[in-house]
Order: sequence, then structure tokens, then C-alpha cells
Amino acid sequence: MDFLEEAKRIEPEIIKTRRTLHQRPELAYHEVETAKLVAEKLESYGISVKRGVGGTGVLGTLKGAKPGRVVALRADMDGLPVQEKSDVEFRSKADGVMHACGHDTHVAMLLGAARILAENKSQVSGTVKFMFQPAEENGGRGGALPMIEDGVMKDPKVDYVFGLHISSTRKSGEVGLREGAMMAAPDTFKVRVVGRGGHGSAPHQTIDPVYVAAHVILALQGVSSRMINPVRPFVISVGSVHSGTKENIIPDVAMLEGTIRTMDEGTRKLAKKKVEQVAKGVCKTFGATAEVEFEQDAYPVTVNDPKATQKAARVLKKIPGVRIKTNEPVLGGEDFSRFLQKAPGTFYFLGTANPAKGCVHPNHSSRFKVDEDVLKLGSASLALLAFEFGNPKGPS
Ligand SMILES: [Zn+2]
Ligand SMILES: [Zn+2]
Repeated sequence: MDFLEEAKRIEPEIIKTRRTLHQRPELAYHEVETAKLVAEKLESYGISVKRGVGGTGVLGTLKGAKPGRVVALRADMDGLPVQEKSDVEFRSKADGVMHACGHDTHVAMLLGAARILAENKSQVSGTVKFMFQPAEENGGRGGALPMIEDGVMKDPKVDYVFGLHISSTRKSGEVGLREGAMMAAPDTFKVRVVGRGGHGSAPHQTIDPVYVAAHVILALQGVSSRMINPVRPFVISVGSVHSGTKENIIPDVAMLEGTIRTMDEGTRKLAKKKVEQVAKGVCKTFGATAEVEFEQDAYPVTVNDPKATQKAARVLKKIPGVRIKTNEPVLGGEDFSRFLQKAPGTFYFLGTANPAKGCVHPNHSSRFKVDEDVLKLGSASLALLAFEFGNPKGPS
């Protein structure tokens, strides 16, 4: 079977679906119309559908004609709170909401793969599960966890799981693969610096939380430079600082919010401990107190199974036009990581950078633009992975 030829045959539909979704993006947990479109398309391909999985998620299940393994493919469905400024004619019609991360393309590509596999069911071994998940952008519980709690990885148990992300940092047609840790655990933290307010002219009568918070911000960078093994990736950024109401009032409290990114669970645990220790220690030095809080349920590190990734590389190489590249680790987070905790598989990047078409702006930019020529490669790659890994003899 030539999966690229199959994808080319249905390319107009893939692009049409993508543009429809692009015009009506929906924010995390509100992917109602998107889910409806997904469910109806899957049913029209003869795939059995379960709606309302983990909220607005949709699960399609296709049984191949031959016995084999269970392979799950995933697309995320949510848009971002961004006002679109791209120059495409199918610009978002939802005010202040945009598919700025390309999740519209993920849905369209996975629907394309579903159609290809459904139309060639007689040649498919095993079972393919199509998982359309809500709220990838949300962090915390996200959308993968609620779907897993709703049983998507069980009955039948998933043997392999694959997902892709469209990437503005790779050239069109490049596929970025990495064995092992690929994306970071994004841990959000809050530090509440509690001092004692008073008059700006008499700081000696107060414990100034603004002054102390400034020290905390500086000292936290010492966690990365002095306390974490430098060969382990680690980033700490304080992105939000709030305190005070007027120039001559020393407030009672200052609030800091930040994120830390790590690539292994050991460093992650240590980093969280050190952040708390430094924040509390600095506050104590100046007579203030720190309340440190980490987001519960933060996404884990995205760890690709090395063997499955090697096999996937051999499989994807067969698609004409696909160029396999080794991906550097990325310190962004992904809740595809949760599926990879349940089954081996791989998460890969599909490049869409194409300066000739103006596809140069990064994911999450208001001008983010996708080279639609790569969508067929995405559909072909997902379908081919399910086809090859579903075969009980496995990919050669
Ligand atoms: Zn994103
Ligand atoms: Zn994304």
C-alpha cells in the first residue's frame, strides 16, 4: 500500500477540514463544535465513535480485518487565546481565539489517517484507536489525563501510541525524532512573599516584600547555576511579579509566579526542593516568610521509547518527501507524555517552515502560518505507523 498516494488522493479534504477548524477555533475544554465535526467525520468513514471522553474528547476505534496489535494515534484539538494576524483568507472568525499552535492541522491530519485506514481496512491488522483530546495547552490536568481516566488506553489495551506536532522550527517535510526524553516537565510555581507593610518613607518600620521578592528572583537563578548538575537541562523563569498599589506605600505581600523545566524526574524533584529552599531561606534572611506552591498534576517529561522510535524512523523513511532528523530536546511541555507513560511509542515533529510561503512565524505567534503541503505527509505518517505497528510481526 502506498500511503502517500492515499493521502494525496484525499488531500483536498484534509486541507478543507483544516481550514474549517482554523476559522472556528475553540479554547481548552470548550472544543464542542470541533469534537462534533471529528465524531461525524469518523462515523462517515465507518469508524465506531465514543463521544464525551474525558470532557470534550472523542475516541474512534477501527478494527482491522486481520488480527494484530492495538495502536493509538492522538491529535489535540484546542486553540489559544490569541488574536490572529496572519494573512490567510481563512483567518479565525472567533474573536481573540486562534489555532496558533497548529492543533487544527493535527485534527485534520489524524482524520485523514483515519479515512485512509478505514478505506483499506481489509489490509489492516489489529485495532487502531483515534484519540482526539481536549485542552493540551492548559497545563495541569490537561486533556490527556481525563481521557486516560476515562479508559482510552484500556479495553483493548494499547500496545503502541503515536502523535505528532507541527513545528515552525523545522523545514517543511522534515520529521524530527528523538529517542528518550524529548520534551520537558513544565512545573509552575507561586511564591507568596509575606512581609509587613507601612509608609514608603519609613522602611525600617516594615518588612518590605517588594525588596525581598527582588532578592528571591535573583537568588532563584542560583538554583540552575549552583545547585543542579550542569549537564542536566534546567530552566527557571519568573514570568509574573505582582505587588503594591502606590509609590509611597510598602505593601504587605508580593506574589511571584514562574515555571521550571526539567528533562528527568530526578532533576525535577531536586529542582522543586531547591526552589522552595531558596525562596524560604531568602525570605527568612530579611524577616519575611515565603509560601511556596507547585501546580499539582503538572505534565511529566515526554519520554519516547527508544526501540519504538528507531522502528518509527525506519517506517517513516519510506514516505517519499519525508526527511528524518534527530530532534534536540525541547523545553516545552506536552501532555502526550501521559500516554507515553501507559504505552511505548513516540512523539515526533513535522516541519512546516517555508519562507517562500511566509511560513516563518513560531508556534503561538499571532502570525503563525502552516505550509499546507505537509499535511498529506502527516496523514500518511500516522496511517503508516498504525499499519506497520499493528502488524503482529512488527515493522521491519
Ligand atoms: Zn502550543
Ligand atoms: Zn501544541
